[in-house]
Amino acid sequence: MKCPECKSTHINKNGQKKGKQNYLCVTCGRQFIDCYPPHRGYAQEVKDECVKMYVNGMAFREIERVKGVHHTTIMNWVKQL
Ligand SMILES: [Zn+2]
Repeated sequence: MKCPECKSTHINKNGQKKGKQNYLCVTCGRQFIDCYPPHRGYAQEVKDECVKMYVNGMAFREIERVKGVHHTTIMNWVKQL
């Protein structure tokens, strides 16, 4: 567990917020919540929708505009199929 601000490991528990553990960095005073969403990319639904749009004839850049997913990401998904 590290402070997202100063990377200090000097962290105190600071109660719960909406069922999640809240922490307080002793070094810089920043409060933060336990679980940062791990960077795993996009949800399966988003991926499926984008691929479906491509299959339905939409261009990568159009999908990018609609879904907010970078077109190279969509290209990689399509290639994986
Ligand atoms: Zn800190």
